[in-house]
Amino acid sequence: MWNKIYVEEDLIESPRVQSILGKLNQSPILIKNFDDIWGKSKKPYLHKRDSLNLFLAHKKGQLLKLAPDAYGTQGEPHYYFIHAYNCIYECQYCYLQGYFNSPDIVLFVNHEEIIQKMQETLDAHPEGRVWFHAGEFSDSLALTHLTGELELYHEFCQRNPRAMIELRTKSVNTKELLKLAPLSNFIVSFSLSPQKMGKTIDLKTPSTAARMKVMDELNQKGFSLAAHFDPIIYQEDFKQQYFELLKTLQDLKLTQKLLYLSLGVVRFTKDVYREVERNYPDSPIHSTPMIKSFDNKVRYHHPMRMWIMNSVKELALQAGVGAEAIYLCMEDHA
Ligand code: SF4
Repeated sequence: MWNKIYVEEDLIESPRVQSILGKLNQSPILIKNFDDIWGKSKKPYLHKRDSLNLFLAHKKGQLLKLAPDAYGTQGEPHYYFIHAYNCIYECQYCYLQGYFNSPDIVLFVNHEEIIQKMQETLDAHPEGRVWFHAGEFSDSLALTHLTGELELYHEFCQRNPRAMIELRTKSVNTKELLKLAPLSNFIVSFSLSPQKMGKTIDLKTPSTAARMKVMDELNQKGFSLAAHFDPIIYQEDFKQQYFELLKTLQDLKLTQKLLYLSLGVVRFTKDVYREVERNYPDSPIHSTPMIKSFDNKVRYHHPMRMWIMNSVKELALQAGVGAEAIYLCMEDHA
């Protein structure tokens, strides 16, 4: 799978790095710092199809980031933690294609430091829940059989019932997850597109049907679940597509179990939009005109966004998702 594996030389003796390398059976190249090489020159995003490199590194600088307004449920602090860059999947709308200079994957291995920072942040908010989201720059489960860090974050949740961790994913790689006991504050959230749309735009990911099957298994074992319908991409029959998606979730008795369901309509920064046009010129994403919006993002015009979100919200309510569980993502302003 990996063209080359680079490891920061200071880390080569670390048990976590040795464990990862032991599973890969490929000799690493030792380097001083991952960013001496990674992203130094532009590597076209689609080169990930033929030549994906892996970097094992120590995350320096900012380990947690305050999430932007309207990122999660309102009225509570939200942070995301950075334990990896880039992803093995290839969703056509992925913002990573215009965010980094390289699609090569970086796995940061200093999870103890990330968790220490999470603890300090939690302590700085002495009351109420504090959210920590994984998966902002990567998928949260796709490589967990390799990286083996889940139990550390799970243990942090066990010690801190006020800390809410969200593992956001499109993966069905639940092998490591299933070794852990379900916790109410250790939430696995699945991003779902309707089956028909997903086939076209969620490239290399497990199918929507496979993701829902895994949601069903996790639900039966008592795990806390959430879902994201984000990005919603307009198609003439989008209501029918979301009706069918919600019907399947309802038949699996999942709609009432969702701690939250976020709804967001497709949107891009200018740079990402340019990349999407270049990488996927035939994508259905381009079949509906977009405008530059209040925050300089490229998206459908406001009445259309609100109509789409409210239509899907109505379908979700009809399928049994609680009104208090639904939130509209990144739509604070007109
Ligand atoms: S799963 Fe998420 S991070 Fe991975 S390619 Fe798709 S949108 Fe990007």
